[in-house]
Amino acid sequence: MKKVGFIGLGLMGAPMAANVARAGYPLTVYNRTPSKAEALVALGVRAVESPRLVAEASDVVITMLSDARAVKEGAFGEEGLVRGAHPGLVVINMSTISPEETRQIADQFATYQISMLDAPVMGSIGPATSGTLEILVGGDETVFQENKELLATMGKNTYYLGPQGTGAQLKLSMNLIVAAELMCLSEAMVMAAKAGLDLSQVGQIISASNIASNLIARKINNIINADFQPAFSLKNMQKDTSLILQSANSLGVALPAVSVIHALFTAAKERGYGEQDSSAIYCVLAELAGLSC
Ligand code: NAP
Repeated sequence: MKKVGFIGLGLMGAPMAANVARAGYPLTVYNRTPSKAEALVALGVRAVESPRLVAEASDVVITMLSDARAVKEGAFGEEGLVRGAHPGLVVINMSTISPEETRQIADQFATYQISMLDAPVMGSIGPATSGTLEILVGGDETVFQENKELLATMGKNTYYLGPQGTGAQLKLSMNLIVAAELMCLSEAMVMAAKAGLDLSQVGQIISASNIASNLIARKINNIINADFQPAFSLKNMQKDTSLILQSANSLGVALPAVSVIHALFTAAKERGYGEQDSSAIYCVLAELAGLSC
């Protein structure tokens, strides 16, 4: 079996790496905060002190980091994975970054004879844990075919979309829908709360109705229970609405709703909700309405 490396053991990376290990791949991992590797070490995974050491031990390295800055640091920094890479190494970036940054990073990898796949995911901690993510892949189709089996340990569906950056492009379109759903749900719930309706009952009725998506049915409980423990952090959603607007600008596409949604996520982050779940956007609207959250 291919020797696999995994860099970034956050909310998503840790359960994804665990699925790779359970499938039997020899796995070497690195995380900036070493304690997050402990549960994997208990599964027989080897934890090392740098991305360079991950690359030295691996045929394929998966990155699941917050943003492009972290991906570039992990790739090209002083102890970055290119320092330990051998020609033919494959890097699969599953972090959400922009299509433009994806292409730049892939071009830079190519100078080290490293191939990259662009493979962001849809689905949160639940699907990451059960290995049922949707994986959106761009890059060389042969490299994709060679790594399809590995990706299948983390995802129920893996879609090949085309050249480098196409996975990232679709990811942004899909997260635009997620951001808009969260915003609409929060506005609807604030209006109901201000009118004095019983939010538990409102939640049950909305969840049972034909307007409920899987996402709404889950996030409505966060609002009702005022429990914003992160599954997808608000700061990462704010990062994504920013990437959506950047991409729309470079494509010459007007996305008026996203401009407003991004402004609200930015305000929420500034008010200290960044580490909470993205559904905590509700709290900012509640505060504006004079309600507690
Ligand atoms: P997370 O829990 O915040 O984890 C982020 C990871 O990146 C951690 O391992 C963190 O290390 C590492 N990191 C951040 N900045 C770094 C830096 N400068 N240098 C080195 N390591 C750094 O985020 P997540 O929820 O797992 O998300 C990871 C990616 O997947 C993001 O791009 C996110 O947008 C995307 N995504 C998330 C979800 C979701 O539902 N959560 C769903 C789909 C896609 P430390 O542990 O040391 O902080």
